[in-house]
Amino acid sequence: MPERTLNDWPAPSSGAAGGSKGGHRSPGLRAYVFRPRAKGPPLSRRQFLNLKLPPSHRDAGRPGAAAALVDGLGERCVIGFGAGAVGGPLFSSLAKLGVGKIVWVDPDRNGPRSHETQAAAPEDSGKLKALVQGKRAFASALPHVEVISIAGFAQDLPLSLLRQADLFVVAGDNHALRVWAGCIAQCFGKRLVDCAVHGNLWCLFLRVYELDRTDTACPGCGLSEKEWQSLPVRHGCDPETQRVSSPTRAVGEQATRTLPQFSLTAADIAATECLKCLLGLDAEVLLSEELSYCLLTHKQLRSELHRTKTCRCPHEKWETVDFPKRPEETSLAGVASHLGVERAQIQVRGERPWISEALCDACQRRVAVRRFIRRYGEMVAKCRCGKPLLALPRFGHSVLPATDLEASWEEPLSELGLEPSGEALGFSSGEGWTYCFFPGAPRLPRARRTGQITTKRRTV
Ligand SMILES: [Zn+2]
Ligand SMILES: [Zn+2]
Repeated sequence: MPERTLNDWPAPSSGAAGGSKGGHRSPGLRAYVFRPRAKGPPLSRRQFLNLKLPPSHRDAGRPGAAAALVDGLGERCVIGFGAGAVGGPLFSSLAKLGVGKIVWVDPDRNGPRSHETQAAAPEDSGKLKALVQGKRAFASALPHVEVISIAGFAQDLPLSLLRQADLFVVAGDNHALRVWAGCIAQCFGKRLVDCAVHGNLWCLFLRVYELDRTDTACPGCGLSEKEWQSLPVRHGCDPETQRVSSPTRAVGEQATRTLPQFSLTAADIAATECLKCLLGLDAEVLLSEELSYCLLTHKQLRSELHRTKTCRCPHEKWETVDFPKRPEETSLAGVASHLGVERAQIQVRGERPWISEALCDACQRRVAVRRFIRRYGEMVAKCRCGKPLLALPRFGHSVLPATDLEASWEEPLSELGLEPSGEALGFSSGEGWTYCFFPGAPRLPRARRTGQITTKRRTV
């Protein structure tokens, strides 16, 4: 799967190539789609009250506050990053509350001792966290809820999927993910709920970044220079998580000693904050604030989160446009004229890297190949000598060079390596970016069939 060009964003000057994944080679994405049990549109309140609910939902099924609150949640979509000790239970809570579509992403597998700190059983050892938590969320979900759990790096999610979110949630163990989630929430103009625990302090932290505005703090605003330098370091509380390993860089510190109930309390408080955001109870939301709550002393502190000028995040919102034609029916020129911008002033970038040239390892021949690639190292054509021509990072760009732009201006976009459906292409004439989304849904790789409740589907 693609190594997305957005990965270059959060810390372009920190020298961290592929920054937000910490030098990880992307293992790709695998999606598990749990289709709603109830077909059709979200339930009306009357239908909701008449539901035969599983025992765990009896209280929610009674007339009263819970039923009133659920109205409207069925139409909303929450996308969450990190399905660990906090993220996993939070995922299930949102499914119980009846949020219509919940997408949750995590690349790791459970280790032999994960059940000590995570919402998992001993027999879940070795299983993907995304799948374990997806099943748990679906098992406790209200019938209209669609659950999609994705094994892989959040940074690899297609923009057309991220675009569906009404609210983002991050419950990760590293600053890289938090900063990237902040950038994405800024790009789409949505809020970000960030929840974390600090085991040694017996504290939980909850922050709501008001990224539907551009003058407010993002997760990068609060980072020190040292933290910028160590973005990928992970501070998890699961002693033996089987982390997706990196061949290039050691990541992960000694597991923190967070007691499991801290994480559960953090998840519950965060779920409530998500609910308030989704229901528009803005007077009550921790807007651009951090709550730190100590379970040892019951002291709590609310502090404001400030936008800092030295933040390395772009703090810009994208315009998004649904382009009516498919990539094979149009060209860069076609999209530019649709947007009303001239070639002379335009910058273009895709979701995936662009390469200008490819290299034959055997005979060192370099060939001009102007196109988007799926990942670095892939073969883009065959050399005269019979060996593959490779797409290497040194010929890669996140923004198309001017000469390539000129040479590719009239080519059909499908010839430039754009996928047949669902991909996005960014255009800028100097001020901000406009992302064009082509018709269709993004393709995610087929998930393995797992028991009765997982269904497979190629697209989401
Ligand atoms: Zn910032
Ligand atoms: Zn060759």
